[in-house]
Amino acid sequence: MAIIRTENLFKIYNEDTIPVFALKDLSISFELGEFSAVVGPSGSGKTTLLNMIGGLDIPTRGKVWIDGTDIATLKKNELIDFRMMNIGFVFQSFNLIPVLTAIENVSFIMELQGMPQNEIKQRAIQVLEEVGLADKLHSRPSELSGGQQQRVAVARALASRPKYVLADEPTANLDGKSAMNLLDIMARLNQEEGMTFIFSTHDQRVIERARRVVTLVDGALHEDLKKNGL
Ligand code: ADP
Ligand code: ADP
Repeated sequence: MAIIRTENLFKIYNEDTIPVFALKDLSISFELGEFSAVVGPSGSGKTTLLNMIGGLDIPTRGKVWIDGTDIATLKKNELIDFRMMNIGFVFQSFNLIPVLTAIENVSFIMELQGMPQNEIKQRAIQVLEEVGLADKLHSRPSELSGGQQQRVAVARALASRPKYVLADEPTANLDGKSAMNLLDIMARLNQEEGMTFIFSTHDQRVIERARRVVTLVDGALHEDLKKNGL
């Protein structure tokens, strides 16, 4: 069953001045359990697509359906709740909270979800260990390298085991070893826990690991390649 579906989606920035067609009539579905890469040249609409299907920004025209719901019909707080309970986001800008330590940043969403304290702590530590930050639990973002901040952001997105994860260039700030390590973690969560992953990327090694590669060009679907036997 498609858990995410866009229908004739348009996103036009600066409609009143010099319009930029970031997405042009894009209709695409993603199924439960996918491990999919969205690729394409810079400016082709990858980030815009992730923002639309995550309900972070509003389409100019067209619809986004998630789990059978047209998300435009949700009230603002319903959308916020839905996102919090179901979606893990990894942003390019990390969006870590500067005054919180790594473990606090990772725990934050789970606290909002109302998870028991001991479980939050256990999960936060486990996932920070998995991304290689066992010795940075109590460091604030300013005390961490770019790559380490990236890994905290990833840990935060994965800790609550969301139904699906939207990741915008998740390996962009990582060296080769860290990038492969992250891919291993994501692939394991996908296979063992059935978490659905949709990530934008330029990274050839990440593209190789994806089971589906969706290519955007100029905001439109250019190619949709589903790999078999992987
Ligand atoms: P990608 O992630 O593939 O690099 P984006 O989705 O970021 O592409 O951008 C698609 C197009 O929309 C680009 O031409 C970009 O310059 C434009 N764009 C993105 N965000 C904005 C914005 N907030 N205001 C105006 N134009 C934007
Ligand atoms: P940078 O300092 O360039 O931002 P990172 O913080 O991503 O780089 O990585 C610093 C070092 O930690 C690298 O040598 C990297 O190979 C290693 N490293 C990264 N991720 C992990 C991990 N998950 N487990 C163990 N070591 C890691």
